[in-house]
Amino acid sequence: MEQGLTIIIYALLFIFGASIGSFINCLVWRQNNNMKVVNARSQCVHCGRQLSWWENVPIFSFLFLRGRCRTCKKKIPAYYFVNEFFCGFLFVCVYWTILIHFQDSWWRFARDIVLLSFLVVIFFGDMLYRVIWPIVIWPATIIGFLFNWLFLGVPISSMLIGVAIGGGFFLVQYAVSRGRWIGGGDVRMGVMMGVWLGFPAIVAAIFMAYFLGGFAAILLLISKKKKWSASAQIAFGPFLALATIWALYHGEKSINWIISLFG
Ligand SMILES: [Zn+2]
Repeated sequence: MEQGLTIIIYALLFIFGASIGSFINCLVWRQNNNMKVVNARSQCVHCGRQLSWWENVPIFSFLFLRGRCRTCKKKIPAYYFVNEFFCGFLFVCVYWTILIHFQDSWWRFARDIVLLSFLVVIFFGDMLYRVIWPIVIWPATIIGFLFNWLFLGVPISSMLIGVAIGGGFFLVQYAVSRGRWIGGGDVRMGVMMGVWLGFPAIVAAIFMAYFLGGFAAILLLISKKKKWSASAQIAFGPFLALATIWALYHGEKSINWIISLFG
């Protein structure tokens, strides 16, 4: 492909991703404040003033406004900017990974940018507000199922086993601990991950989530920010989201690799 065209494609993907990131920021905030998600003008999170179009441009507005509201001068949360940048970067990475590196289909590219966008919503929702919204999980589960089934040829049996393992694993813990170790949101997310990843990648995702979660808990203990009793209180959703991203690309390979060690 011509170099100029390649640069334009990457730039457009980055802008598209950053806009989705901006939309996700607003969606997470509105969902948490029980506001209308669509058909409402953007406003300052502090003073509620409606924003003009030029205060709403992903990445640039934050830089231009130097991270503060023009009227009330209060700080716009930095993760707004970080997330816009991250989503732009993510879309570029997915394009490169799926279409250039794996030489895979446009359907897989489309599926992955949709699924990863859902994961960013789940990540921020759980990290900031400690909830995994059912209104996000169930549409995400259905969309993932349709992509896998109709366009990517993932066997339904693989997804069903994924649900049994992903949902079952968390449901047992939920039942045994009566919701103290993990929340109902984690069970729902286990079901969603099972559909998305299928078997055996779901197994790899669960291992990775516990590995990341355990690693973070140890870091927090060392830095003495948390005590043992409180360490159980870390939201698990963000680790599940990160592990799902990883497992979408490396889940099946890692399981096969582990099996080959014993074979
Ligand atoms: Zn303001």
